[in-house]
Amino acid sequence: MYKDIATPTRTKEILAKYGFSFKKSLGQNFLIEPNILHRIVDFAQLSERTGVIEIGPGIGALTEQLARRAKKVVAFEIDQRLLPILADTLSPYSNVSVIHQDILKADVQQVISEQLADVEDIMVVANLPYYVTTPIIMKLLTDRLPIRGMVVMLQKEVAERMAAKPGTKDYGSLTIAVQYYTHAETVMHVPRTVFVPKPNVDSAVIRLLKREQPAVAVSNEDFFFTVVRASFGQRRKTILNNLMSHLPGGKQKKDEIEKALQAAHIDPKRRGETLTIAEFALLSERLYDTFS
Ligand code: SAM
Repeated sequence: MYKDIATPTRTKEILAKYGFSFKKSLGQNFLIEPNILHRIVDFAQLSERTGVIEIGPGIGALTEQLARRAKKVVAFEIDQRLLPILADTLSPYSNVSVIHQDILKADVQQVISEQLADVEDIMVVANLPYYVTTPIIMKLLTDRLPIRGMVVMLQKEVAERMAAKPGTKDYGSLTIAVQYYTHAETVMHVPRTVFVPKPNVDSAVIRLLKREQPAVAVSNEDFFFTVVRASFGQRRKTILNNLMSHLPGGKQKKDEIEKALQAAHIDPKRRGETLTIAEFALLSERLYDTFS
């Protein structure tokens, strides 16, 4: 077994060898604590039949732990300067392929068909670049990829919003967007001290396990999410006022909105953050005819 890349001394050596300078704009905060990496990998429940998609391998700290436990790892890295470093640090592992691409522009489905056709199970595992955590997660969920789920590190606040329960301050449209597709759970809090350079925010690891079907069945997903976003428009407003202010043409449709709320058994004075995902679905079905 090779010495872990993620130890502080080995990381320092690698960075010095290549004269690597961190780009803050790419969210480059590398992990330097092998125990944290082992725990992340444990939460992903990998086997020799699992294929892993990693976003942002950096110098390979997490990648090598994944390579040791999975059948294959495909890692997307945007920063060209890291490619020769990864070729060096990951040379002991024949089951890793690094793709030089912005994950937000990648055709992940095609990469899965080409590179992960022979695995039985696919997980996304990553220490995400913090400036784009939400777009990356939403892309991977809305692309409807054949993945079991994701175990990813991100800002603590964002993890809390994704895993929030109705009626809490963190519950909002991001919660519904994520929980529509997945069962979400924050599995670990991570201190700033295990990264180099130290980030300005606290971190957490979230596990998102994909539901077989979305949490609720709706006639039109876009409209469902329009209703959700409108309901959280201004947090202090009642659901009635938010829907009137934030649904297109809502101001002229007070009666129809009141009727839809009544039919869905939702008190118009409630606030958006108290509605369950099932109640949002019921409401959006009742509003759909009026607004479509
Ligand atoms: N996995 C490494 C670790 O844990 O030490 C590095 C994680 S670092 C937080 C984020 C990584 O994502 C960096 O290597 C960065 O260059 C890369 N990255 C940033 N934006 C990206 C994007 N849009 N697509 C792919 N990789 C990206």
